[in-house]
Amino acid sequence: MSYTLPDLPYDYSALEPHYQAENLQIHHDKHHAAYVSGANSTEERLSEAREKGDFANLVGLEKTLAFNISGHMLHSIFWKNMSPDGGGAPEGELAAAIQEHFGSFDAFKAQLTQAAVLVQGSGWGALSWEPLGQRLIVQQIYDHHANLANGSTPLLVIDVWEHAYYLQYRNMRADFVNAIWNVINWPDIAARFEAARKNSIN
Ligand code: MN
Repeated sequence: MSYTLPDLPYDYSALEPHYQAENLQIHHDKHHAAYVSGANSTEERLSEAREKGDFANLVGLEKTLAFNISGHMLHSIFWKNMSPDGGGAPEGELAAAIQEHFGSFDAFKAQLTQAAVLVQGSGWGALSWEPLGQRLIVQQIYDHHANLANGSTPLLVIDVWEHAYYLQYRNMRADFVNAIWNVINWPDIAARFEAARKNSIN
């Protein structure tokens, strides 16, 4: 199997009161786990299809593969994007790049907050590195993998599927997104920014 569920880098209760332990535990142990098993089972079904030379279900399998790998990817990033010691604002080169590409940290924060809050249905808000323009962009992701700029690398992601917040915040998605800013792990995002900038598209 290619995919395994990563442990959370902190206890279930570590992000309280911003993220309630029960909501976080179900989110990680059940929802994220389902994307991992979905990616592995789809990979197995693709292997069987190749062995049989039967690609009758290929279109559906490819869609399922993209959905589950993308869900696994974004959740894996999301857990590390948060920390009990998080919050505040970025420093150094990441702070300078946000200033350059969005005008100010506050303008960036407002755009990403609204990108997340205004997702119609299930999706994510994301700060991503876009290698063609060599710049940071905010993206509004539908499901786990739609509405993306190809080649962009997610650095900071905010899950706004109802499963992410409904147990704690009910229908108040904006309250959840605003609370998440209090636990954002800026050193993790700065490290992702540094790594992503080394990738170029020619
Ligand atoms: Mn989720």
